[in-house]
Amino acid sequence: MASETAPDSTDVRPSTAPRTAALRREQAVRAAVESGIAGARTPIVGLLDISGIRSSAAALHSAFAGVTPPGTPVLHAFAVKAAPLVPVLRLLRAEGIGAEVASPGELALARAAGVRPSHTVLDSPAKTPAELREALSLGIAVNADNPQELDRIDALVGSDPPSSPLGLRVNPQIGGGSIGALSTATATSKFGIALRDDGAREWVIRACLDRPWLTRLHTHSGSQGVPLALMAEGVRAVHELAEEINTAAGRQQIDTIDIGGGLPVNFSSDEETPRYADYARLLKETAPGLLDGRYGLVTEFGRSLLAKHGTILARVEYTKSSGGRPIAVTHAGVQVATRTVYAPESWPLRITAHDADGRPKSGPGVAQDVAGPACFAGDLLAEDRELPLLQPGDYAAVLDTGAYYFAHHYAYNSLARPGIYGFSTGPDGVRFTVARDPQTMEEIVADAGGGHRDALLPE
Ligand SMILES: *Cc1c(COP(=O)(O)O)cnc(C)c1O
Repeated sequence: MASETAPDSTDVRPSTAPRTAALRREQAVRAAVESGIAGARTPIVGLLDISGIRSSAAALHSAFAGVTPPGTPVLHAFAVKAAPLVPVLRLLRAEGIGAEVASPGELALARAAGVRPSHTVLDSPAKTPAELREALSLGIAVNADNPQELDRIDALVGSDPPSSPLGLRVNPQIGGGSIGALSTATATSKFGIALRDDGAREWVIRACLDRPWLTRLHTHSGSQGVPLALMAEGVRAVHELAEEINTAAGRQQIDTIDIGGGLPVNFSSDEETPRYADYARLLKETAPGLLDGRYGLVTEFGRSLLAKHGTILARVEYTKSSGGRPIAVTHAGVQVATRTVYAPESWPLRITAHDADGRPKSGPGVAQDVAGPACFAGDLLAEDRELPLLQPGDYAAVLDTGAYYFAHHYAYNSLARPGIYGFSTGPDGVRFTVARDPQTMEEIVADAGGGHRDALLPE
């Protein structure tokens, strides 16, 4: 890999970083078309900006190092669900970032990437006894979601001190953000122990006093759409609870607070706002006692580490006009941008137009629909979007899709999972590496029960 020759964007002053990232992306789009990674036979690919990911990782480290005394244990665990790709987890591991996993599959990915158990955290609302047993035998940190799960952990721990750090997830019930489906700290959220419910606080304190090995509290107040101040309020509430438990225990039983992830991402420009440093500073103001060195910290950011560094590049197959509206039919739709297609108001994406050589297209903006390849009318990436008029053979680049988009394939119409390529830019141009192979027709057939062809026929 040519990553040594890639510009190190941590050295780039904040004002120029967005422009530099946009230039790298434009170079990569052009090079993907020139090199044939994208073309008539591979009309859709995902691209990942390696140096962009590294600079976000560095920004995360420095933001929390900037608000905690030296030596404070801080584990940044990437929420694997945001980009479940082994090479991404491996890159983040090299940048000193662990993994937050929420299913056996995500744990398998983290292990395949070589993420150490001590850098892995298991959270999920539906852990089976087998999952809990595996996590405890590996020494992976586990946050129990509810009292029934704590009973299961009791049985597994028995009388020996567990080798896993164990915690409880609490829901501070601070309210939701602008996207209901992503707001985890509402009064009736399915996650964690609802702290403001009758008797819940007392129950949590008792549960900890009865279990000297419960040493962590966990909260995650939601993802995209939750304002920073509300997230910080949730963290403050959990820190207060930790202090109360420690006072009741007469020692610092709760030694680590896992503050979850959820930093929102700006999907409307190349600016990376809000920044990790903004959130860290706000936490310092809102819950100073959390960051004075007495507590270890775990964070679980996902979207904010990856979103800005991914681009979907899709070829325009046909163009047409319907009811007076120009429509570009591309190869990117619901299979790679599921949330945008089903909930366009909540998840608008930027799109740039490129010519058949991958160069940015110029020309007057024309309101047009950018459609996907799936067979339903709503399969649109954008409606009535002003862009230079797309032509067959042009490309649409769908920006900020590094998290929860092309790595989250939705198998509608048996559309193939696209290949994903990492890129780095340097004096010698753009270097690509395969991060995930495109799905083959054989794999599509096998995944669709191809090996059980006669299973439903009468004997
Ligand atoms: C989804 C999730 C995250 C990551 O959220 P982002 O918005 O991607 O940062 C972190 N922790 C938990 C428990 C989650 O469910």
